[in-house]
Amino acid sequence: MESVLALVPRPLKQECAEGFFECDGIPGISGDGSFAEETGVFSGQLSARYGAVSGSPPQIMCAKDGAIPAEGYRLRVAANRIDLAAADGDGMYNGLQTLRQLFLSGDTGDVFVKNPQTHFAIPCVEIEDAPRFPWRGFMLDCSRHFYQVSFIKKLIDALSLHHINRFHWHLTDDQGWRLPVPEYPLLAEKASKRRNPYRQEEIYDEGFYTEDEIREVVAFAAARHITVVPEVDLPGHTVAALAAYPELGCTGGPYQVEYRHGVFEDILCAGNDRIFDFVAAVFDSLSRLFPGKYVHIGGDEAPTARWETCPKCRQRMTELKLNEPRQLQRWLTRRFVQMLTERGKTAIGWDEVLEGMNDSECTALPDDMIVMYWRSWMDKKLIVDAAAAGRSLIMTPCDQGAYINFRQVEDPDGPGAAYRSTTLQNSYEIPLVYPEMTEEQAKRVLGGQGNLWAEVINSAMNAEYMIFPRLCALAEAFWSPAAGDFAGFKRRLQVHQRRIDSLGFVQCREDS
Ligand SMILES: [Zn+2]
Repeated sequence: MESVLALVPRPLKQECAEGFFECDGIPGISGDGSFAEETGVFSGQLSARYGAVSGSPPQIMCAKDGAIPAEGYRLRVAANRIDLAAADGDGMYNGLQTLRQLFLSGDTGDVFVKNPQTHFAIPCVEIEDAPRFPWRGFMLDCSRHFYQVSFIKKLIDALSLHHINRFHWHLTDDQGWRLPVPEYPLLAEKASKRRNPYRQEEIYDEGFYTEDEIREVVAFAAARHITVVPEVDLPGHTVAALAAYPELGCTGGPYQVEYRHGVFEDILCAGNDRIFDFVAAVFDSLSRLFPGKYVHIGGDEAPTARWETCPKCRQRMTELKLNEPRQLQRWLTRRFVQMLTERGKTAIGWDEVLEGMNDSECTALPDDMIVMYWRSWMDKKLIVDAAAAGRSLIMTPCDQGAYINFRQVEDPDGPGAAYRSTTLQNSYEIPLVYPEMTEEQAKRVLGGQGNLWAEVINSAMNAEYMIFPRLCALAEAFWSPAAGDFAGFKRRLQVHQRRIDSLGFVQCREDS
């Protein structure tokens, strides 16, 4: 067996040497001026675990090296010092997280460690590392279950330990609206509260993020080199918003925030211009609160049943000379993307936005819209054609490892949706490029993402159980050009899961 350290994701290249870097307490770190923020976060992470960073003179030296690839780093552990180099802050942060894993090995009972709380012995090694894909994402559904900011921050910190660099925040859906929009106060008052279907007077689930909380999450993620990608699902999955503002729907309501799961026919009325005022106010909120480049506008599962019979929608179709109601969604998507472009944002949508694209000028999908692929049970033609047309893609294949709301192990009492399974191996082997794609088409893939939908995940503890360790497998698939060795991954995971324990997470263990 080759000698590799139990790191997840597995670095591109590593060469183990004789001996150890040994220290009592956490040694001092020198950031050479360029990387003060990164080393500050790293020191905070280690002192949160082990107490104050004491050592001086510094023994961990961080330096800039412009020859190292973007987001990559070089880590050298020698007997008397540790050197980290990177071309940019992203790379330095990634290198520090690999080093953090080695320090966290102190909790794993690994052979390298003598006295976990005070004495560290890091094996001498030289690592050169860089990511396979620039988009390494994770999505949390905060509509079907409202997750507290404290949990989201704990999760984001752990994502960064795995070199995940996108947190996709699913903020709105039929079952609850969580985003503040000052011009529409009833979103907070009504759309964020789900009533008990049996006892209407009783609120069953509720929650709403304040602007300050969102800024706190965004800043916390930014310090960990994670971009927060907010999602507001449009024009479908909007029943919660309609419950607050029924005039935005085709029938005018009344509607109530959904307690059922599934796809609902009541969506934004494509014939009513007031929806554009609403969406503009939503996008203004997103622009104010999220400095990142990307906004996800959903676009999935929008039935046209209401549009077919709605006089305003029929009128709109006549004006636009559209033959079928489905084209109204493409027309809306195009408008929404233009509204985001005006605000300096790049739009992302689920793969339904591709359907029947380029069929007329007013419904063609803007070229710079990124598509997130999820309907992996369908013919691959849709996605291959999009890549061939030059569209950028993010791979989140639902039934091929990306959707971790399905159960990982057979456990009739465990959390998670039981009608399908996503095993650890499925997640590890998530296809990010399909064999149907040419080399040129494969270059359109920005990367991949794991998604945790929360219809049946009703607590942070259950979410953690669903996330770990499948997130570790996904992270390796997104990052490691050297991925593809599930047996080796499982061996490393035995050590790595104890690191995750030490950060206070609940995990699923296949052998428990
Ligand atoms: Zn309508």
